[in-house]
Amino acid sequence: MDNRITDLLASLCNCNKHYTITSAKRDPETNAKCGGVNTSAHLYGCAIDIAPYPVTNLSDFANLLAELQPDYDQIIIYRTFVHFGVSVGNRPSRKMLIRK
Ligand SMILES: [Zn+2]
Repeated sequence: MDNRITDLLASLCNCNKHYTITSAKRDPETNAKCGGVNTSAHLYGCAIDIAPYPVTNLSDFANLLAELQPDYDQIIIYRTFVHFGVSVGNRPSRKMLIRK
C-alpha cells in the first residue's frame, strides 16, 4: 500500500477511531469483478474503501479523512463506506464526491 494510505490508517489509530476496510489493493481480476474501472487507484495500492466502526455519519468521516491526509486525490462517499484514494503519479485533484 502507498505510504500516504498507511499514514492515514496510523493517524486514525492514533486518534482512537475504529474502522473497517472493505477493499484495498486489488489485482486486475478482482477489480473487474467488483466493477472497478481499469484506471482504478486500487490497482496500485493507492486507494482503500473504509467505513467507521460503528457506522456513524459518513460525511463527517470523509471530512476527517481529508483532514488527516490532505494529500488525497479522490474521496467518494458511498451509502455504506468511503472510497479514499491518493494520486497515482500525477497531482492530487482533491475531489470529494457523493454517490449514494
Ligand atoms: Zn474504492
